[in-house]
Amino acid sequence: MSSPASLTHELIQAAYFIAAFLFIVGLKRMSSPKGARGGIVWAGIGMLLAGLITFLWPGMRNDILIIVAIFVGGVAAWWSGKRVPMTAMPQMVALYNGMGGGAAAAIACQELVRGRPFAPAPVVLAVAGAIIGAVSFSGSLIAFAKLQGLISKSLRYGAQQAVNSLVLLATLVLGGWIVALHGAAPLSAVAAFFALALLEGMLITLPIGGADMPVVISLYNACTGLAVAFEGFVLGNAAMIIAGMVVGAAGTLLTQLMAKAMNRSLANVLFSNFGETAAVAGEVTGSLKPIEAPDAAVMMAYASKVIVVPGYGMAVAQAQHKIWELCQLLTDRGVTVRFAIHPVAGRMPGHMNVLLAEAGVPYDLISDLDEINAEFETADVALIIGANDVVNPAARADKSSPIYGMPILNADKARNVIVIKRGKGAGFSGIENALFYLDNTRMLYGDAQKAGAELIQAVKTLD
Ligand code: NDP
Repeated sequence: MSSPASLTHELIQAAYFIAAFLFIVGLKRMSSPKGARGGIVWAGIGMLLAGLITFLWPGMRNDILIIVAIFVGGVAAWWSGKRVPMTAMPQMVALYNGMGGGAAAAIACQELVRGRPFAPAPVVLAVAGAIIGAVSFSGSLIAFAKLQGLISKSLRYGAQQAVNSLVLLATLVLGGWIVALHGAAPLSAVAAFFALALLEGMLITLPIGGADMPVVISLYNACTGLAVAFEGFVLGNAAMIIAGMVVGAAGTLLTQLMAKAMNRSLANVLFSNFGETAAVAGEVTGSLKPIEAPDAAVMMAYASKVIVVPGYGMAVAQAQHKIWELCQLLTDRGVTVRFAIHPVAGRMPGHMNVLLAEAGVPYDLISDLDEINAEFETADVALIIGANDVVNPAARADKSSPIYGMPILNADKARNVIVIKRGKGAGFSGIENALFYLDNTRMLYGDAQKAGAELIQAVKTLD
């Protein structure tokens, strides 16, 4: 018969297995907008189970402290999750992600500070997880500060890469020494090791332009997953290993997808200062031709197909509800309406999908770039709401453009193009957009929400 201790052990392992299974089911469901909400609930239940079962670990102490920490963290997350606007979601993700990296580094710190000798494999993983987790923690906090506007300038100086490499080298040397001592290193060495790793995270992130932060956050997210998995090995915690690996893999894929959709290499994102230096691009000729809301409304109300292209400006203006109301009016008049989503429209992956889902737009009206691009040629009107770079034809034609090669939505192929934006403001890449100057393009100037309301009124007055 099994002893109570081994029964408890088996119960814990079984619960971790179920938790890991729930994480994977949750992640799978998150791959489609329809299942995403449910996916978050599944993964949340997994996390709850993993958290609760941890209290059964033999030799668990400080239960009260843990409960207080869970309560404080839970209330802060609940409060911020309810309050934060969609446009501030990237910095919130940066903050949460940083906490994950910090937690992994803290576990490594706790294990190394004890000064007890480790077996060779766990000490390598503890040190590797500590470096990755600490870099991810301090780097994510800098990313948060940049996106929140707390740090507006990017720190750049001559020998920057050399300094960053030196700090990294010093961190690795100290880490190697801790490994050589099987983790039984003096406290001062462990403290210096963590200080250097934290400094490295800050040094890597400070020069990167604020606009590139979403890609950087996704990269740090992958790092956090890896650090958690490494510390899971150190603690012998299966749920941490599996969850960490899943997050690491998902974060890596997302980083690659984002870089690909922007036609940039990761090195370019990390070292180029994109969006902060004056962009060089070919000349744009022609003139901007304004249109008033009543005329734009007529153009769309008598169209047979309208393709809506939302972009960052729609998110800033929170215009999704008005735009959907407008589209419903058009649909009632017999117009076929579709939404075209570029993979990096807005400022975070899935930004537009989330906003449109929030406004109640049915998923079957929303298409990705590959699905809809051929359809622009059959559209009477492409209605562009606060999008700029994702519809810039320079990406197709102008080899001197910084966005050359980036896949774009072929809005310029529609018979007519209506662009809602406030003025001549550039997009994220800082370059001019030839689409706005085409003969078949009309500019409807104004805040997207206000313009949406005017279009609704104008369509309502038509027979
Ligand atoms: P852009 O940033 O290219 O353009 C947004 C446009 O919105 C601006 O030209 C601005 O013009 C207009 N705008 C701003 N506020 C308002 C408002 N209140 N009402 C109406 N219009 C407004 O957006 P896109 O979505 O086209 O492109 C996204 C860019 O961000 C791409 O370059 C992408 O690479 C980059 N990026 C995306 C990430 C992602 O994960 N989604 C991550 C990192 C970068 P005006 O000031 O004249 O109104």
